[in-house]
Amino acid sequence: MERNLVKIQGLNVDSFSFDEAVEYANSISGQVVTINPEMIDRAVKDSEFAEIINNAELVIPDGIGVELGLKILGHNVHRIAGIEFSHKMIEITSVNSQSLALIGARPEVVQKAKEKIQQEFPDLYITYVKDGYFEDDESVLNDIKIRQPRLVLCALGSPRQEEFIYKAKKLLPDSLFIGVGGSFDVWSGCVQRAPEIYQKIGLEWLYRTVKEPKRFKRIFPTLPLFVLQVLKERFIPKGV
Ligand code: UDP
Repeated sequence: MERNLVKIQGLNVDSFSFDEAVEYANSISGQVVTINPEMIDRAVKDSEFAEIINNAELVIPDGIGVELGLKILGHNVHRIAGIEFSHKMIEITSVNSQSLALIGARPEVVQKAKEKIQQEFPDLYITYVKDGYFEDDESVLNDIKIRQPRLVLCALGSPRQEEFIYKAKKLLPDSLFIGVGGSFDVWSGCVQRAPEIYQKIGLEWLYRTVKEPKRFKRIFPTLPLFVLQVLKERFIPKGV
């Protein structure tokens, strides 16, 4: 299976469907980035972060913002929710009798997430669980190097999870790493996803912002500015 990359603001995004992305991820190792407008905005300002994204083995468009941006640029790519993608990859890891590591979130959250995952996949071997409030990356890298998990889910928030994975993938050439943002909070039951109808119509972000108003300052002005930047990319030739 070949990657078919499209570009947005100079960043690679894969144009796979959900099923294709799962199949492709199952055949590779390395870094999966679940990209959103906040990350694109950061990458435009931070070339090292852009490097990490453009060197990732798979970049999935996580959410309506990136889907809309790609549409403006003429690419008909459908969004893939990182949390659903990661859940599917856990299932595959279990079916293949491979192992899983969970790194990130608050200690009680990652423990609870582990319990929930173990309940759903009783045969899955969860080889490592670590909360995301550590200072010493080297010691965590060393721990996972010893355990050699096939799938490593990192919920450290962005850009920390992408930077951590970029270091980790060099030490574990057979592992697949996914930056999963707030997924452990959802799996643990600490945070609820928006009802399906909001997810379907692309308004999950609005639901979450109303429920958790402090997210407002993360979305605004980033989201409208992101759309503006993409419109500029589409309609104003470079150098003007
Ligand atoms: N987090 C972490 N270590 C940190 C900062 C954040 O483990 O130093 C965790 C946080 O507890 C949460 C996850 O990272 O579970 C995602 O954080 P956030 O909601 O900021 O990310 P988003 O998915 O919204 O980008």
